[in-house]
Amino acid sequence: MNERVFNFNPGPATLPLPVLEEAQRELLNYKGTGMSILETSHRSKEYEAINAETEALLKEILEIPDNYRVLFLQGGATMQFDMVPLNFLTEGATADYILTGSFAEKAYKEAQKVGNVHVAASTKDENYRRIVRFDEIKLSENPAYVHITSNNTIFGTQWKEFPDFGDIPLIADMSSDILSRRIDVKKFALIYAGAQKNLGPAGVTVVIIRDDMIARSNKKLPSMLRYDVHAENNSLYNTPPVFAVYMVNLVLKWVKNQGGLAVIEKINEEKASYLYEVIDESEGFYAGHAEKDSRSLMNVTFRLPSEELEKKFIAEAAEKGLKGLKGHRSVGGIRASIYNAMPVEGCRRLAEFMRDFYKRHK
Ligand SMILES: *Cc1c(COP(=O)(O)O)cnc(C)c1O
Repeated sequence: MNERVFNFNPGPATLPLPVLEEAQRELLNYKGTGMSILETSHRSKEYEAINAETEALLKEILEIPDNYRVLFLQGGATMQFDMVPLNFLTEGATADYILTGSFAEKAYKEAQKVGNVHVAASTKDENYRRIVRFDEIKLSENPAYVHITSNNTIFGTQWKEFPDFGDIPLIADMSSDILSRRIDVKKFALIYAGAQKNLGPAGVTVVIIRDDMIARSNKKLPSMLRYDVHAENNSLYNTPPVFAVYMVNLVLKWVKNQGGLAVIEKINEEKASYLYEVIDESEGFYAGHAEKDSRSLMNVTFRLPSEELEKKFIAEAAEKGLKGLKGHRSVGGIRASIYNAMPVEGCRRLAEFMRDFYKRHK
């Protein structure tokens, strides 16, 4: 296959073509240094410039206030499932988790190994078809923090508005929808996201953390697990994933070139609407997993009338260059992941294919 396909994989996911092309142009000789960025010291002025610029770009695009730092860490979002409780769930305290999907559950299970945890709300009994309502949230007495997952990658649900718990720190796993829309960063004490969905390649995890949370880092932990150690060292405590951060830098410049998050958000709404429209028109042939008011703009999940038809759908779509549509085993069916880098044209083509498939099989 010579042509690039429309890649609906959930992560690692499609990257903007101009970003890949830029990386390719610069791969052998980064800005006249005569070496690849892959071969460049993380203590060089070239890399230090990338490191600083990437933090500044993210602060600009997400309008992150001055009392926050952006850190580039390793170990994926999964490492944050551990670092968050290790740093902030101190002895005797309780941390609250809101369960809206598989990754939220994983975060909760890791925190259980560290200290007292309380489930403040959950939609597990409904196979995570929806986000919890605010009036269902029952916090513990004085939680050390509340943890949420902004977009549930596997189930295809997304918080439309975020709860406000006053002074109680709100911590969010935004791995699969960071930079897909405008958010009010001030509402959060800490936001983390593995890069491989909306930010760049796998290998780097972005952490946006408020100064008072940095100060609260648990000083008894090994250095690599402490937010304050990474912050004091500008994410250069040890060798960072140089190439992954460089790629995030290029993706952020691409986002800025698109017109920033106000524009990206509109495009994402348009893209998702093409797919949800077909689901709603199909008289139940395509059965969406998410309840309507919880639908994700990033991961569109649905079933067909039989597993046989689902297999056929995936195979025929792949022949048309629409790849990566198989759903996660816990939901089954189809999942179209349509992160920022998925072009509008990819969603139009998928919607067209869905209409045609429906006509032939209803
Ligand atoms: C993909 C994903 C993760 C896991 O990220 P890793 O980088 O593999 O650790 C965690 N949370 C959410 C919401 C995700 O989408």
